[in-house]
Amino acid sequence: MSRPEMPKTLADWQALAASLTSGAGLETRAYINDVFVDAASGEAFESINPATGEVLARVASCDAADADVAVSHARAAFDGGDWSRLAPGKRKRTLLRLADLMEANKAELALLDTLDMGKPIASALGDIGGAIACFRYQAECIDKRYGEVAPTGEETLALVLREPLGVVASIVPWNFPLMMTAWKVAPALAAGNSVILKPSEKSPLSALRLAALAKEAGLPRGVFQVLPGFGHTVGKALALSMEVDCLAFTGSTAVGKQLMQYAGESNLKRVYLECGGKSPNLVFADCKDLDRVARHAAEAIFHNQGEVCIAGSRLLVENSIREAFIDRVVAAAETMQPGDPLDPASFMGAMVDETQHRRVLEFIRRGQEEGARLRAGGRALEGPGLFIPPTVFDGVTAEMAIGREEIFGPVLSVFGFDTEEEAVRLANDSVYGLAAGLWSQDIDRIMRVTRRLQSGQVFVNNWAGGDQTMPFGGVKQSGNGRDKSHHSLEEYSTLKSVWMALAT
Ligand code: NAD
Repeated sequence: MSRPEMPKTLADWQALAASLTSGAGLETRAYINDVFVDAASGEAFESINPATGEVLARVASCDAADADVAVSHARAAFDGGDWSRLAPGKRKRTLLRLADLMEANKAELALLDTLDMGKPIASALGDIGGAIACFRYQAECIDKRYGEVAPTGEETLALVLREPLGVVASIVPWNFPLMMTAWKVAPALAAGNSVILKPSEKSPLSALRLAALAKEAGLPRGVFQVLPGFGHTVGKALALSMEVDCLAFTGSTAVGKQLMQYAGESNLKRVYLECGGKSPNLVFADCKDLDRVARHAAEAIFHNQGEVCIAGSRLLVENSIREAFIDRVVAAAETMQPGDPLDPASFMGAMVDETQHRRVLEFIRRGQEEGARLRAGGRALEGPGLFIPPTVFDGVTAEMAIGREEIFGPVLSVFGFDTEEEAVRLANDSVYGLAAGLWSQDIDRIMRVTRRLQSGQVFVNNWAGGDQTMPFGGVKQSGNGRDKSHHSLEEYSTLKSVWMALAT
């Protein structure tokens, strides 16, 4: 498969963006039963580039009518068996083909996410690499899973079979548009389900491009469909559908709670939730190389403009090194200023939209009002574009809004602690439990604290490490699902117990 040359400079990316957004370059219609179509209502919504304020496209705004049609096609495809009963090795080959097509179109996919939601192109390229790796990993798992033979007497053969669930609706957010999509869609398809994807209304473009690639890869009709639109219309319709067997959601805790209610009001569909976080990053005085740790602590919050579910937004520092450490974090933050998302050198890009921009600035205002000490940033950059610089508050407490609530922006809240006990108490003092970081050279402390942290994942002497082999998800109100690894594949299948009486 030929690979177009990867753009390298700002000018290269600008040229590719211009060619992609001019003329008929962008797919903006829904993908239902193998064809791209307008929403049944004819309605469309605007996709806006937050770095420039320009309208990129008008995208089909699906609603309940489109959801009904897509669900009936998904069900028919599942019952037809062209995918759900296909030999695992053949499913694997199709998904590997899709991954190859994504690789061949990597620059375009990354650019779509950057234009749609403002993330820097370098980081978008990393996301697409992650999405491709996820498809490959899940595809490779397909023909390596075995069922079970239960230990019984000779008069019985007892089998435990794994079967796909049926119709899976995946509802995803905008902060890592295609990567979050892959984390849901790849294992669900790998397990043999029919999948309907609802991308965020703030970042639908890469999902629609993925649909075209899935068609090219040869996924059978109705097995993968994409419905762009709003949560309260098409998202809600999918969640309430009696014919959807599983909802796989990544997004806010508030919407996650609603989805559980919809499942209870409808057909008790499985609901897997990957929700918000307010992740603590614990720095003990015995850690080595404060400069390095400070740089990682800054990246943990400022990567992707702080629009990251596992952002290390609460920095807990042992008081004996706190002043010296904050100075270093502030110095590192200085080097992470937002810039043109199309510039490969930019570390941070634009906030996704005006609502999010306003929301982050309101948290910054409240932080100052509630008495936290502003050490860096604190005000929006002059327009055009929705840019907020790295912002650091010291002297934060769990009573303050900036110490408690998920901001989802480049705002770091620093707490001090004197003892290990206090550090663990502060870390666990949150409704969330998605990720936690821990920096120390003392292996006994590392294991003691790791076991006590209420968190789906713990990063020791790093932040956000991991690959496809590791499950990703939270505890408490960060959700109950697990993306990535063979564990996510298991989530999209169910067990069938078969007890066969034999003549002996
Ligand atoms: P959101 O909850 O507002 O929206 C997520 C998705 O749900 C969107 O597609 C939206 O249209 C849809 N939706 C909204 N209301 C709905 C409804 N009533 N019924 C059905 N669907 C509905 O979240 P967001 O602003 O897109 O994303 C940010 C949130 O996502 C943050 O809280 C972040 O922590 C979380 N997130 C979590 C993870 C994780 O793996 N745990 C990863 C990324 C983002």
